[in-house]
Formats: sequence, C-alpha cells, structure tokens
Amino acid sequence: MATPLLEIKDLHVWFDIYKATLKVLDGVDLVVHKGEKIGLVGETGCGKTTTAKSVLQILPKPPARIVKGEILFKGEDVLRMKQDRLQRVRAGGISVIFQDPTAALNPVFTIGEQLMDAIKYSGEISSKKDGIMAHAVQALTDVAMPDPKRIMNNYPIQLSGGMRQRICIAMALATGPELLIADEPTTSLDVTIQDQVLRLLGALVKERETSTILITHTLGIVREWTDRVYVMYAENMVEVAETGGLFSNPLHPYTQALMRAVPKLSGGGIAEGIPGRIPDYHNPPLGCRFYPRCERAMPICQKARPSFFSVGDDHQVACFLYE
Ligand code: SF4
Repeated sequence: MATPLLEIKDLHVWFDIYKATLKVLDGVDLVVHKGEKIGLVGETGCGKTTTAKSVLQILPKPPARIVKGEILFKGEDVLRMKQDRLQRVRAGGISVIFQDPTAALNPVFTIGEQLMDAIKYSGEISSKKDGIMAHAVQALTDVAMPDPKRIMNNYPIQLSGGMRQRICIAMALATGPELLIADEPTTSLDVTIQDQVLRLLGALVKERETSTILITHTLGIVREWTDRVYVMYAENMVEVAETGGLFSNPLHPYTQALMRAVPKLSGGGIAEGIPGRIPDYHNPPLGCRFYPRCERAMPICQKARPSFFSVGDDHQVACFLYE
C-alpha cells in the first residue's frame, strides 16, 4: 500500500499549567491517504484542534509539550524537521483554515498584500510580481469573489464574515497544498453563509483532489463531505470507520450519543443531549474516559482503558463491549 500522506502515530501532547500537567492527547493515531477526506468529530475540548495544531507545529510551547509520537508527512517526521524545512511544509504542503476568519486575517494589511505574501512564501509560483498578482486574482476568482481586483485593495474590515472566510479559503488553496486542515471553517458564520462556504470548499478540494481533514461538530456536514470519520473523546480516538459504515452502524456509546444529540427536523421530539461533561484533564477517570457518562458501562470500564477492537473492514472501536 502507498505511504499515507499523513500518519500520526502514538502522539502524546501535554500542557503544563499552574503546576499541573494536563494530558490532552494520549496516544493519538490518525492516517490520511492521498485524496482522502477525513472527518474529525467530538465535543469541544476533546483534543481535535490540538491534534491539528500539532501537525502544523503551531502549538504554543510552553505550555504545550509533545512528549512522544511521530507525525509523518509523506514519510518525513514533522516533529524532527529543521525549521527551514518545516516552513516549506507550512508554506506549500499543508494549509489550514481556522474557524474565525477575522482573527486569521491581519487587519492592517490589504487582502492583496496578505494573499500575495502567502503565494510568494510558498515558492511554488514565479517570483515575478505580475505572476504573483495574477495568481492572487485567480485565487479570488476561484472562490467566487465578485470583482477580485477591487477586493485585492480592500482591508478585512471592509468585507463581510462570509467574504473573509472565502478569502481564507483562497489563501489556503492558492499555494496548492497537498493537505488542507479545515478547523470548524464555518462555525462563526450564519447558517445560510455556512452552506455556501462549505459547498464552495467541497467543490474546490474535490476538483483539486486535495486531501482534507475537516474538524467539525456538525455531523450532517461530515456525512455529506467525508470518506472516513475519526470520533474523538477526551484525548483519544474512540471510533474510526468509513463514513457510510459509521452513520449506518455507530458502535461506540459516545458516537451513538453524539448522533442522538443531532436535532431532527421532523418528528422524534427534541434531540437528547449527552449527560455530564468531558472529564477534567487534571484528574481524569482511570479506566475508560467515557465511563462516568456511559449508560452501558461495566465494572471493567472503571479499571482499564479499552484498546481498539476491529469490528469489520475499516471499522474499529475502543470499547470493551466489542472486545
Ligand atoms: Fe462505555 Fe465501557 Fe465502552 Fe467505555 S468501555 S464506552 S464505559 S461500555
């Protein structure tokens, strides 16, 4: 089998805060193949964004510490790259779209300056100014930006939230990345704009065959968009499956609870929430981290951590029910 585009192996990330150590990622494994679209789902605070930031090496250190593991991008370990090589990977190999486009764009530079800088930095395009400018205008055209030449001279504050997020998409894709990490790219937008932005992003990554990790709380988007899904709960993955298999047969009690929590448009009453909250990372449960909230918990769950059990082709669950 071909080398995966991205392979995270046994990643442990700790945060040293107020004389305590929070084990935020504890042995995370994740694989993205070329052209594949991965969904990464779970509640806020489960470690999704920490996983994404670890790939790009943009976690603040301190307080973060990568204690153990490997992050292989095309077989090369990001954690052991020299700074200049890492900069090249960030500039052209892996791009990211963050959830808040207002924070992602610099308010004191025009859209054109920021976009052209991103393109120039990637080194993929001719270094001549005319070539870079033409590429920037094309990138804005690709994201259906009206009057892209005028937009080049605008500042972020002059644009709406939806337009700013489209600028961020243009910036992320203009450098021709092989892997795109979209971290809740529509959370800060209103619902109608969310749909437009997601459709646009989906069409662009499909056309360019860009491998994508989509981090989101919205299971409907994951179902429509992705090939495989990783469900994450309190510092580690709990279920991995092809998207169709996961939605037709969710097995982990946490995945089942997440699905029951999705509001239904017709019938079925009000969606159920998941009782309780994610564990305190200062003092997490000893056994299965979902134990205090799990309605199917057994005595063993309190004492031991479940490892992954294979329950079919490309479907694995970390739960003693499937041992
Ligand atoms: Fe529930 Fe036990 Fe499975 Fe954890 S291992 S999800 S507590 S049944």
